Amino acid sequence: MAQPKIEALAIHPDRAAAEELDARDPLAFTRARFSVPEGVVYLDGNSLGALPTGVRAAVLDAVSRQWGQDLIGSWNGNGWWTLPERVGDRIGALVGAAPGQVICGDSTSVQLFQALTAAARLRPDRRVLLTDASNFPTDQYLADAVARLLGLEVRRVDPAGLKVGADVAVVALSAVDYRTGELWDVEAITRQAHAAGAVVVWDLCHAAGVLPVDLDGVGADAAVGCTYKYLNGGPGSPAWLYLPHRHQPVADLPLTGWMGRADPFGLAGAYEPAEGVARARIGTPPVLSMVAVEAALDVWDGVDPAAVRAKSLALGDLLITLADGLRTDGVTVVTPREGRRRGSHVSLRHEKAYELCQALIARGVVGDFRAPDLLRLGLAPLYLSYADVWDAMRALAEILATKEHEAPRFRRDQTAVVT
Ligand SMILES: *Cc1c(COP(=O)(O)O)cnc(C)c1O
Repeated sequence: MAQPKIEALAIHPDRAAAEELDARDPLAFTRARFSVPEGVVYLDGNSLGALPTGVRAAVLDAVSRQWGQDLIGSWNGNGWWTLPERVGDRIGALVGAAPGQVICGDSTSVQLFQALTAAARLRPDRRVLLTDASNFPTDQYLADAVARLLGLEVRRVDPAGLKVGADVAVVALSAVDYRTGELWDVEAITRQAHAAGAVVVWDLCHAAGVLPVDLDGVGADAAVGCTYKYLNGGPGSPAWLYLPHRHQPVADLPLTGWMGRADPFGLAGAYEPAEGVARARIGTPPVLSMVAVEAALDVWDGVDPAAVRAKSLALGDLLITLADGLRTDGVTVVTPREGRRRGSHVSLRHEKAYELCQALIARGVVGDFRAPDLLRLGLAPLYLSYADVWDAMRALAEILATKEHEAPRFRRDQTAVVT
């Protein structure tokens, strides 16, 4: 392919400006806590976080020593039994939950079922479940399923103009829109829902580990999140459920597994919930996966969450500025520009977003595509540098200038589906 003069392709600000930001980055030290492959700019930490260096040894130890040698004694001897609460408390610390209110286990989808059902049962006299028409599919499907079970009506709304009527039992939203990266005002929405007598369930999949959330402070009624995005717990790592102290004694959780029973080893025939957040345990937890999450959380040692948010926004500012320079190439920024309305990924719209995503991946810049026309670039401040963002956008500029993405190998029918 004929190469136009790429050296002449200036993008602003220049790389030196990005390097300057890196030189002053108070979080530069956390990058060494991850193994990111050489030559890769990883902008998909909002889908699968990178591998924290400590995870390998922790999982190896859990397999070879704990399982291999200590066998069943590990449930007590190596703390397997208390993993869901232990890991839950550490996640809680990142989402503003005091100890004893978060349990780790199962998938986000399962935890949504738990949370939505229990929340609706707190308002038995109300018939409506409000959710975002743009919410992540599983959140919408679970809302529909819970509504079918409990005889509720699901109303899909736009969180931007939220109205909560007196018939609303539950408001169930994601803090960050998974497509556009828009961040909703968790505090104001919670206050509004409470003023109308409803309870609120937050999905923090795209928020936990990357922006400050104060679940106790805002008085959320329940929350869920995964651990494989910005919490870097690895593929299929278990999710978490926040159930505040005030609801624990009355929460009627639908999945009454034996591990959530009072005195689980009494092996009684009838269920009776355990005290505290332990009632939200279900069955035997995925120990190996939870060991990985626990080790992954060590990357937070000595890290100021405010610095993480500040860097996330600054990386986003740089990305947006560089993306604005590609307007004539058909690139538009979909994510809100104001920091208070932005999560930690930036979505760019382009009619050939799929092909651009593939061409970027071929150059080692890994983002993802969301149908029909979004290129989603996740900014994980613990392992990304400003120079990484610059390099990624320079690669995008080059691809657009040379029309590299129009090569047949990047056509949608030529490549595996990117999830
Ligand atoms: C990632 C994500 C999920 C994932 O659900 P799983 O059950 O873990 O597959 C759910 N909801 C939202 C908003 C997400 O971003």
